[in-house]
Amino acid sequence: MIDYQAILDEIYQRLQQRVDKGEVASYIPELAQVAPEKFGIYLNRIKGDDFYVGDWDEPFSIQSISKVLSFAKAFSLQKNQVFKRLDVEPSGNPFNHLSLLELENGIPRNPFINSGAIVIADMLISLLDNPKEDFLQFVRDISNDQTIQFNKKVAASEAETGYNNYAAANLLKSFGNLKNDVDEVLDFYFHQCSIEMNCKQLTKAFYPFANRGKCMQGKPHLTLNQVKRVNAIMLTCGFYDEAGEFAFEVGLPGKSGVGGGIVALLPGEFTIACWSPGLNEKGNSYLGMHALELFTTKTNLSIF
Ligand code: GLN
Repeated sequence: MIDYQAILDEIYQRLQQRVDKGEVASYIPELAQVAPEKFGIYLNRIKGDDFYVGDWDEPFSIQSISKVLSFAKAFSLQKNQVFKRLDVEPSGNPFNHLSLLELENGIPRNPFINSGAIVIADMLISLLDNPKEDFLQFVRDISNDQTIQFNKKVAASEAETGYNNYAAANLLKSFGNLKNDVDEVLDFYFHQCSIEMNCKQLTKAFYPFANRGKCMQGKPHLTLNQVKRVNAIMLTCGFYDEAGEFAFEVGLPGKSGVGGGIVALLPGEFTIACWSPGLNEKGNSYLGMHALELFTTKTNLSIF
């Protein structure tokens, strides 16, 4: 029997003492306001009790973690058509890298770098009647939580300083890989990134990816085949140019965001979410990466 609570407590105590907690993202001014000492972990087990520690119930900006949910929605609506407009290869580059996009004629490497998520946002705008509202409703339904919201201040803050994303969207448009207006697509993208969740809600949102497509209430949201593919892209592309390191150290499919959140899962066993706003130089939560490495090492639970 694994003593999950003792393991989470030990990880929390050990990492919280670290003086170096990474740097809180400041290129989105609103995110720079978040207290760097926040730290929480929530473990949601498929066939057992949950365990948690620290600031697990405090909402934060999920940022790029939302890219998994937007991709899952577009994939479930469009099936393999989505792969006409983007690829599924790791980029080996930072999340906001542009030159590869130009080199590869406006076809993003994968849906989890910014350019790929912007293409997915464009697809959803074309597919949904009320894109922002309908997507938020999808996130609420898959998470079984109707309280989940956008943070309008964070979305507006990113729109003010999102020069790199404007560049990516304009480049995509120039290659004919954006059907809708650049401003409309980025407004959707900034809103999806601004969604707030706490660690517990994140584990619920990702539950279907660990539970053969079914949410915690047993309702099917994705097919098994879709779950397999989304998890594969999380494993290979979820951490940008640190995806290899995450697979090596942690050994789980997962996704990070510049709000300091990381969610990861072991199919059939659990979903786990960590939050610590300080980031490492690759833009992934500094303590979150360490926490998950310690978790899979101490429990001996990973996909390998
Ligand atoms: N909204 C952020 C951006 O586009 C998301 C980046 C991230 O979380 N890695 O820059």
